[in-house]
Amino acid sequence: MGTYAVIGDPIDHSLSPLIHNAAFRKLEMDSAYISFRIRKGELQDGLESLAAAGIAGFNVTIPHKVDIMKLLDETSKECATVGACNTVKIKDGKMMGHNTDVQGFLSPLEQRSVKFESAKALVLGTGGAARAVVSGLASKGVRITVAGRTIHKAQDVALLGRDGAASIDFANAASVAAESDIIVNATPLGMNDEQSPIPADSICPKSVVYDIVYRPIKTALIKAATERGALVIYGYEMLLAQAALSFEIWHNTPAPYDAMKQALLGMHAS
Ligand code: NAP
Repeated sequence: MGTYAVIGDPIDHSLSPLIHNAAFRKLEMDSAYISFRIRKGELQDGLESLAAAGIAGFNVTIPHKVDIMKLLDETSKECATVGACNTVKIKDGKMMGHNTDVQGFLSPLEQRSVKFESAKALVLGTGGAARAVVSGLASKGVRITVAGRTIHKAQDVALLGRDGAASIDFANAASVAAESDIIVNATPLGMNDEQSPIPADSICPKSVVYDIVYRPIKTALIKAATERGALVIYGYEMLLAQAALSFEIWHNTPAPYDAMKQALLGMHAS
């Protein structure tokens, strides 16, 4: 049934092998999923090694999500809109690129029936993940403000918003947060025990606070939002949703979501 991979650098701590191998075990598929380190600047050679090894598909993470675009034979609509790819299917020697981060981000919001109509969102960050988040929210008609510490990057990501989203300096994010229905952290802040990027007193109890950082599960932002009584969405939910969508692209069968979730949360619990 083939071998699959995640490529990136660093890659040792990727949780994708854990999630996908749990799915293979659950469905008794004779497949394997490995992590494969490819350094920045070595993408083309790395892809040739993967092809020679007969890989059937792979996920793409930092730092290759944008660079891989020019090496693909075909791209999905999401991929082209976001300008980044996180999932590649190889068929007849051709590489087809997809972006499951966009729908992977939206799914947990949709599952909670979050109201998008007339909603205002604040997105923290201007990297690859922020691009997927802004594209997803824009496709739902949400009015978006992008906060970045490098203002030209915030302006660039804001162009993905419908009718152009607003862009602000990261230092001003707290004041906009207070008026936002949806607050999304798409920076790595929280991975290393940093303070919440938005102070608790700037979070409205009626807001939805979504931290796409997935390790730790309870980041300082999630804790601050919980303290304020806001609806919280965890980064692991997006991680699982994008993984399930990649699985379905490769295997044309529904992903065993619960087994994938159990593997991920079981690991965190231990
Ligand atoms: P990236 O392309 O490296 O972008 C990181 C962004 O965060 C940049 O805008 C960067 O600003 C900003 N940033 C970094 N440190 C900051 C700080 N101290 N203060 C303010 N802004 C800061 O990374 P990415 O791929 O977008 O990923 C971002 C985070 O999302 C990571 O933690 C990643 O693990 C997570 N993620 C989660 C999922 C999921 O499925 N849950 C999927 C994708 C990514 P500069 O450009 O100015 O440096």
